[in-house]
Amino acid sequence: MAELIFTLLSLGALLALAMNRAPLKIWALAVAIFTLSLQLGLGRGELHWPVFTIWSLLGWLVAAGLLALTFPRIKRDYVTLPAYRALKRMMPSISETEREALEAGTAGWDAELFSGTPDWAKLRRVAPITLTAEERAFLDGPTEELCRKLNDWRIRHELHDVPEDIWRFVCDQGFLGMLISKEHGGLGFSAQAQSLVLGKISSRSADGVTIVMVPNSLGPGELIEKYGTETQKAHYLPRLARGEEIPCFALTGPDSGSDAASMRDVGVVTKGWHEGRETLGIKLTWDKRYITLAPNATLLGLAFHLFDPDNHLNRGEDIGITLALVPTDHPGVDIGRRHLPCGAAFPNGPTSGRDVFIPLDWVIGGKERAGQGWRMLMSCLAAGRSISLPATSTAAAKSLLRTTTAYARIRKQFSLPIGFMEGVEEPLARMAENAYGLEAARAVTATMVSSGEKPAVISALLKYVSTERMRQSVNDALDIHGGRGVCDGPSNYIQGAYQMVPVGITVEGANILTRTLITFAQGALRSHPYLFTEIEALQDPDQEQGIAAFAPAFDGHLAFAVSNVLGSLFHNVTFGAFASAPPNAGATRRWWRQLARASRSFALVADMTVVLLGGGLKTKQKITGRMADALAELYLLSCILKRYEDDGCPRADLKLVDYCARNCLARFDQALAGALDNFPVAWAGVLMRPLVFPFGLRRRQASDKEGKVIARAVLEPGEFRDRLTRGVFITKDPNDKIGLLEYTLEKTVAAEDADKKLERAIRKGEVQRYYNNDWIAEAKTKGIISEDEARVLAELHDLTARVIAVDHFDAAELSRGEARPRAASAPSTDSIAAE
Ligand SMILES: Cc1cc2nc3c(=O)[nH]c(=O)nc-3n(C[C@H](O)[C@H](O)[C@H](O)COP(=O)(O)OP(=O)(O)OC[C@H]3O[C@@H](n4cnc5c(N)ncnc54)[C@H](O)[C@@H]3O)c2cc1C
Repeated sequence: MAELIFTLLSLGALLALAMNRAPLKIWALAVAIFTLSLQLGLGRGELHWPVFTIWSLLGWLVAAGLLALTFPRIKRDYVTLPAYRALKRMMPSISETEREALEAGTAGWDAELFSGTPDWAKLRRVAPITLTAEERAFLDGPTEELCRKLNDWRIRHELHDVPEDIWRFVCDQGFLGMLISKEHGGLGFSAQAQSLVLGKISSRSADGVTIVMVPNSLGPGELIEKYGTETQKAHYLPRLARGEEIPCFALTGPDSGSDAASMRDVGVVTKGWHEGRETLGIKLTWDKRYITLAPNATLLGLAFHLFDPDNHLNRGEDIGITLALVPTDHPGVDIGRRHLPCGAAFPNGPTSGRDVFIPLDWVIGGKERAGQGWRMLMSCLAAGRSISLPATSTAAAKSLLRTTTAYARIRKQFSLPIGFMEGVEEPLARMAENAYGLEAARAVTATMVSSGEKPAVISALLKYVSTERMRQSVNDALDIHGGRGVCDGPSNYIQGAYQMVPVGITVEGANILTRTLITFAQGALRSHPYLFTEIEALQDPDQEQGIAAFAPAFDGHLAFAVSNVLGSLFHNVTFGAFASAPPNAGATRRWWRQLARASRSFALVADMTVVLLGGGLKTKQKITGRMADALAELYLLSCILKRYEDDGCPRADLKLVDYCARNCLARFDQALAGALDNFPVAWAGVLMRPLVFPFGLRRRQASDKEGKVIARAVLEPGEFRDRLTRGVFITKDPNDKIGLLEYTLEKTVAAEDADKKLERAIRKGEVQRYYNNDWIAEAKTKGIISEDEARVLAELHDLTARVIAVDHFDAAELSRGEARPRAASAPSTDSIAAE
């Protein structure tokens, strides 16, 4: 018994020391006490004297060794220096452009998740959604009005362009200057407000939101606001805010897509003639493509590599990536042709120029900022990537949930609303999960940006997760709508989003690259508590200086690694029962605990991945992709738990929170297990597996039963459905394609009892339901339904016919070739009037 107590106490002490990252002195003392206790007979048990002597000797040796390491000189010579030299060969090097990207962004909640011991107070300090009165009024006023004006079909199909009146409206109302400060004539809206405005517009028209989104994301407006000279600010910002200048920003070229920093566009500092005077300037040659708004732009933001062979700037020949503002009517600028991205109508096209001379003061920020272009871009990208695509993807997930749930309740097959069928419940529940989770992550991230953060890792993670989940929701919506979603026309409300999915996936860092390289491989450098400092120290050309910086980071890293090993094992063996949860966590306490437990496992595997893969991190993308997925699930779950609290813990939402949490954790486990099973250093994978999954892969996705509850709840009009789809454009006008759904849904639910009577009579053969018969009138005549019920059902019948109708066209009308002249007739719909 005494031996058992001794063993348990020793293990407990070991665990406590490791998990609290105790200093070496304490470890030395603990080992000494343990060894002494053994010698005094405590816990000796059945150990025979040779084994006992070896144990004791080993104990004293370890204690002495640990004590010796508390002397800085000894530790430096026997631990730090050999480690420094060995790691110098192993660790990845950081290129200049990578360094600029890393230093440009901030680490926030991602670093907490990487730490394995997230500080809940930090997450709770992120404010819930808050808007100023002015922002709220803009959302409810001009934004709502713009949504009503946007006619997706007309833009997408008939005009294949955004019409002049929409351009005029967005310019006049200041939509293009949301991020420009009030001081410079803009609206000066917070990131949260911008995100909400963009989301609402995008729920109405993907092309419509693009013309608003681009001037409010990375481009001339933001770059001038942050880095421009006073002259550039005074001249351009008010004009951009009023829409008197239409900006675009050109980074991508035919040979430099994802690897944008390798651009071949070149500028040479030289003297030339500008406005009749000889001026110091830049001779520019560029070839860019895919540039959004370029065909309509008046102001071209241009990225190029600047050289100064004659050393005019006194900074040597290679100045580096530089950004300039070039008016598109400047001689030599070739602009105006269009690409056709996925058939979308927003303006997008190439631009080029050869030996175009521009004065030096067209460089953004003037000649002092020449060569700082990459840093400037990265600094804006971290914030911008957190807003635009997450806002539009989330809006798509929410608005498709809104329309699909209405349709699934209205549309009947086999005498049942299709939404009540188990096969349809599955995608419906997934759509609800996506809408809830994405809105949670969108809102939390936008608030972080509003408060000044530039979340480098979270923005990359959210970009790929939100666009991938949008893709999932669009596909689910299409599947549930069947042919009604497939056939395009004025009454189709899915095709606009469907066409834009690949655009969201591709822009602002294509998803494969963003998932496999940026989120984890580069993200680990930013979010890991010690790695970046260690790598910087290892790259220091001055060895002594390098070692001085390396030593404390390395010590911390060792303690971190040991605490992760024991912490993971402990929390996984105890199923997270002792993991931390924030105070007053209430009904979600168990999920907070599971999140803490998962974060510990993530910290262990993430740390081992970066340490053991070293420079191979960038190429082992199947591992880094899975690690990115695992981190994404942790981030989503954090935001979901926070959203539930921010919303005031509505009881009705708890079942959805449980559903999301279960799925997040199951997907997290899958991602981590995949990484361990395929770990490139096989022995490390084998060793880590029992620490992370001591009892195997036990967590399961939410059950079918839970999915049914979610699907049924979201098919009911009311608060729950409204909360899930908040922030998107909603109307109940039956002459609008979205309004028709909402209007008919309410009528459907109200008429359900009467409808059941009618269905029963039809099944029994008492009433004949064929086109040549008025079956509602027949049921009324036979006393199966009352007169009131017959009236309600007749109205519902007409409305339903309009909801399920698809558009059809004259063949000539669809032909754009000369062989078939365009017919003048309007497209006809089975029953709905075109918008
Ligand atoms: C509609 C549209 C609008 C755009 N608007 C603008 C704009 O306004 N301004 C602008 O400058 N650019 C714009 N772009 C360009 C966009 O940012 C690029 O398309 C994007 O960066 C990808 O470059 P790429 O198309 O050349 O693909 P590539 O770089 O050729 O990539 C092809 C595939 O390879 C993957 N890949 C590449 N490198 C790696 C790697 N190291 N590891 C893993 N996978 C990798 C990518 O993820 C992608 O899946 C736009 C593009 C489109 C389609």
